[in-house]
Amino acid sequence: MTTIKKTKVLIIGGGPAGYTAAIYAARANLKPLQALGLQPGGQLMITTDVENFPGFGQPIQGPWLMEQMHQQAEHVGTEMVYDFITQVDFSQRPFVCQGDSETVYHADTVIIATGAQARWLGLESEEKYRGFGVSACATCDGFFFKDKRVAVIGGGNSAVEEAIFLTNHASHVTLIHRRDQLRAEKIAQDRLFRNPKISMIWDTAVDEVLGKDIPHKALTGLALHNLQTGAKSQLEVDGVFVAIGHTPMSEIFKGHIDLDTEGYILTKPNSTATSIPGVFAAGDVQDKVFRQAVTAAGQGCMAAIEAEKFRGL
Ligand code: NDP
Repeated sequence: MTTIKKTKVLIIGGGPAGYTAAIYAARANLKPLQALGLQPGGQLMITTDVENFPGFGQPIQGPWLMEQMHQQAEHVGTEMVYDFITQVDFSQRPFVCQGDSETVYHADTVIIATGAQARWLGLESEEKYRGFGVSACATCDGFFFKDKRVAVIGGGNSAVEEAIFLTNHASHVTLIHRRDQLRAEKIAQDRLFRNPKISMIWDTAVDEVLGKDIPHKALTGLALHNLQTGAKSQLEVDGVFVAIGHTPMSEIFKGHIDLDTEGYILTKPNSTATSIPGVFAAGDVQDKVFRQAVTAAGQGCMAAIEAEKFRGL
């Protein structure tokens, strides 16, 4: 049976952006409803040590941080629903959002904070060593590879930026790309090629992530093959950063609000406002540049303040 729930603010997503929006909206007395989706906690749920979220003297665990955000949002008055929004109608207000649970949400404002997912190579061994040498975020995990050898996979701006960033920590960085030219901006490429700590492996794919389990699980290298010649090789590294792009979780909003060509939600400058007045977007679903928990949280805060100020509430 269909249930209708009415709310002043519907927050879609359960990552740092969504929880922060919930905390601010609840404290503004908007009684927000937060639909947490299928994977509450977002990308931090697959992260181990977090050292770059301010406020903690010692490293904390990603899942623990998300649990704390959840409790904080609930404590200040957010109603949580474990529902996955499958359809939206932003053509009139209140906005109508349909949940998997057959609940229909009527919302005066909507904050979209559905995040993004890092793309992975899809290897079993990559999954096995994720968090034990395999990462998708150099800013988050680069620090753990001080004076170690690392590889970066990819040829876009992210891969190039990550490779350059990693030279701050690692003894050597190898960038492995499947073609013979990068798609990253020319200026970034120039910086990359000038860096003496970076070397390139072109036309090459990763067949397997190599590692050991004793005395503890750790990555030891990569099995590679050259896509032009078929030649197989191995590269000894202590870490690998997969930077082959992200997929913003914006599928259900296609045709309802403006997205860019890659599917990121477009927001107004210095604002979280989308192309539909009353619908806001925060975090990785609209940010392809910074992609940090702390920037997502900041945008969640902005979205709640903008929702509170939205005329028509
Ligand atoms: P991109 O989609 O630009 O690049 C992905 C790279 O990964 C490509 O080189 C691609 O190869 C490679 N790749 C994709 N799939 C595979 C695979 N299965 N195996 C091996 N390699 C693969 O993603 P980015 O994350 O780099 O950037 C996304 C967007 O964000 C871009 O618009 C970028 O410009 C922007 N960005 C901007 C930044 C800035 O302004 N400072 C910083 C970071 C990103 P191929 O080239 O062969 O297709």
